[in-house]
Amino acid sequence: MNMKITNNFDLEEFWVSPTAKKYGIDNTPNAIIEANIKSLVLSVMQPIRDLLGVPLIINSGYRCPALNVKVKGADKSKHLLGLACDFTLGNRVKNEAAFKKIVASGLNFDQLIDEYDYSWIHIGLSTTPYRKQILHLK
Ligand SMILES: [Zn+2]
Repeated sequence: MNMKITNNFDLEEFWVSPTAKKYGIDNTPNAIIEANIKSLVLSVMQPIRDLLGVPLIINSGYRCPALNVKVKGADKSKHLLGLACDFTLGNRVKNEAAFKKIVASGLNFDQLIDEYDYSWIHIGLSTTPYRKQILHLK
């Protein structure tokens, strides 16, 4: 069920998970989750890709409950809804520069998190009004 969402992103990138595979977890999204992933791509991922002009490596998109437990995700993680994505540009220096550009761009989001000194970036949307929260997790 691979499907191109935009020129730069396939649906598959947001749900295929080596961890799920390893533990025999079926992380296939349902139609609601699929729609959420599409809106995530259209509202933040593709705009970020366009802003930065370089490929984004998706570490984690949608997580079904079993997968979220496996990766020790937060209970109410937006990953559970297909509304969050962890990505990297390849290293901390690039991630930090990207993070600052995203903040400066005025892009609308619910949460933008610098995870562990820019090891990766988390961006999330919400089904409630966006908080536009910017966090740094150490
Ligand atoms: Zn995340």
